Amino acid sequence: MADGDNATLDVLVFPGDGIGPEVMAPCLEIMEAVVAAVEPGALSLETMPGGAAHYAETGSALPADAYDRARAVDAILLGAMGDPKIRYPDGREIAPQVDIREELGLFAGLRPVFTSPGMPVPLADPRAHTLDLAIIRESTEGFFAGRHTADVTPERARETSEITRAGSQRLFEFAFDLAARRKRAGGPGIVTCVDKANIFRSFKFFREVFEEVAARYPDIEPRTMYVDAAAMQLVKQPWTFDVIVTENLFGDILSDLGAGLVGGLGMAPSADIGRDYAVFQPCHGTAPDIAGQGKANPTAMILSAAMMLEWLAERHARPALARGGAAIRAAVAAAFRDGALHPTEQGGPDGLDAIADATRRALDRLLHDVRS
Ligand code: ATP
Repeated sequence: MADGDNATLDVLVFPGDGIGPEVMAPCLEIMEAVVAAVEPGALSLETMPGGAAHYAETGSALPADAYDRARAVDAILLGAMGDPKIRYPDGREIAPQVDIREELGLFAGLRPVFTSPGMPVPLADPRAHTLDLAIIRESTEGFFAGRHTADVTPERARETSEITRAGSQRLFEFAFDLAARRKRAGGPGIVTCVDKANIFRSFKFFREVFEEVAARYPDIEPRTMYVDAAAMQLVKQPWTFDVIVTENLFGDILSDLGAGLVGGLGMAPSADIGRDYAVFQPCHGTAPDIAGQGKANPTAMILSAAMMLEWLAERHARPALARGGAAIRAAVAAAFRDGALHPTEQGGPDGLDAIADATRRALDRLLHDVRS
């Protein structure tokens, strides 16, 4: 763990399974080029195996020292893990990325939804072509909490949800702090709590805690919405949202909807953030249907690295890394400008190499302009 001014920041890299290693390779190349330009030597990368293939080889999803290393480094960059063909004896998929969230207390799943002109997006309305909203998915409790205590008989299966005051408070504080930061950068300053408080007592509790926390942020407008209405509004008028904060399972679903708004899972970055640790990974999984075919879109992975640089910049007061994150975003936007790229996930011809090459070329131009 880095301490002191301009110490090297350690990053643990898990390429993972399926398309994970495929999208990680150009991501690392681009991130390392950026870091070399803005603050040479700022990052030290350590790559670790982990995931379904590692489980098949060793009987463990992660190496024995994985959590010790995860706690020792400054950030974690993860491709994707899992393979439907390789499972635990009880039939569950190997998903150590979910275990890491729980183990490190990564309660805030931050899934930004943003588009820039020329990116291929499914909605025709011009306002959908310059979206900028953020979905925060609670990532340690909610309906996912019951996965460890499922009670299954031949006649029925029961899994229970859990929402705690402490878990909700820290989640909502994260959401309001984010909305305040976005407002300082010109955002509208709105947090929408998405729940199902009209049906479930646990969501009424969730909403009550939201309202308590909202009272401490008089400059931010709190809104509430039922999840069914939110799903419709996200398709109908996504530009009316700023920060959305929601329960684990609802967030899982709505963030895929958010990925759809920006053209697909290959375009959607994410971060899982806790008080002390953070993992940066694309919204997508291992996509076994396209693995090894050169079809994976690396943009989500590359933008996740940009989020990591920006998070490290803020946490360690390293503004050069924030410039690095911004350079990656600008390179992605430039690569897609004027409809220059049409990814295979949207029926186009551009796969991994085409998108990675266009992003690298755009970055080279940007870095050249910065230097000259
Ligand atoms: P998980 O449950 O691990 O999140 P999943 O089964 O929901 O995974 P993904 O592995 O993310 O789903 O894949 C869903 C679909 O999206 C697949 O058809 C896959 O090919 C496609 N997809 C996912 N990521 C990408 C990508 N980076 N580029 C192109 N297509 C992708």
